[in-house]
Amino acid sequence: MASTAAAVNGAAQSIISVRDVSKDYLLGKTHVHALRGVSLGVDRGEFLSIAGPSGSGKTTLLNLIGCVDTPTSGTVLVDGQDTSRLSERALTDLRLHRIGFIFQSFNLVQVLSVFQNVEFPLLLQGGLSQQERSARVNGLLEAVGIGEYARHRPSELSGGQRQRVAVARALVTRPALVLADEPTANLDSATGQNIIDLMRDMNRKDGTTFVFSTHDPKVMAHASAIIRIADGQIAGREAVHGARAEPAAAPVRS
Ligand code: ADP
Ligand code: MG
Repeated sequence: MASTAAAVNGAAQSIISVRDVSKDYLLGKTHVHALRGVSLGVDRGEFLSIAGPSGSGKTTLLNLIGCVDTPTSGTVLVDGQDTSRLSERALTDLRLHRIGFIFQSFNLVQVLSVFQNVEFPLLLQGGLSQQERSARVNGLLEAVGIGEYARHRPSELSGGQRQRVAVARALVTRPALVLADEPTANLDSATGQNIIDLMRDMNRKDGTTFVFSTHDPKVMAHASAIIRIADGQIAGREAVHGARAEPAAAPVRS
């Protein structure tokens, strides 16, 4: 079980522990050093921002934590489990049951409706009745403010609406950890603010851990801490004072 593994690894407090991780990509004949010896720990319940310029390694780092890519060297522990030691099956389980991933490009399935896109992880998981799934999906679509678009296809929605679908899909399984790659990058500032408020609300209510990348200072200001990354290395970590002391943000819609 994860708890035993966590105790063995001494990482019971951390939901994420990245240790001396490097990632090289081979681009033609040149090696691109996307990450160079990155170490970081993330505690349960954090609302952490990874900040850095384009090309600094943010997406690579999130992909390694989200088990959609593997490091060239170093270890990544998620929920106390060393991801390099897990079978494909165990990795799939970890991704499906413990992690929600909001990709920068949304990755919605174009032939499915908004409702079906959000329902999809629940179908993969199994366990909930159709009624329970409908209640969960519709509740989330309302919460992210796109309840009336349930039957639409992603192609019929604006960028902001698609992003809300991606957020709802990442949250629908009630994962312990949500990773979001520049979740507001393609949105106008009001919509981006709504998305961040929604994530923050869930962080406060359910203790869900969020790690999101951004290069928008306004978005960073909502984080409980900021990790700065530059040129594939951690350049520093700052607490954001007052971020946790704010009153809980109102849901986008109730
Ligand atoms: P960020 O998300 O901060 O913009 P990335 O993690 O996407 O940065 O990229 C870090 C570096 O790794 C960049 O130099 C980028 O060009 C390179 N890189 C990322 N993915 C690949 C890939 N699949 N193949 C080759 N190089 C890549
Ligand atoms: Mg990126």
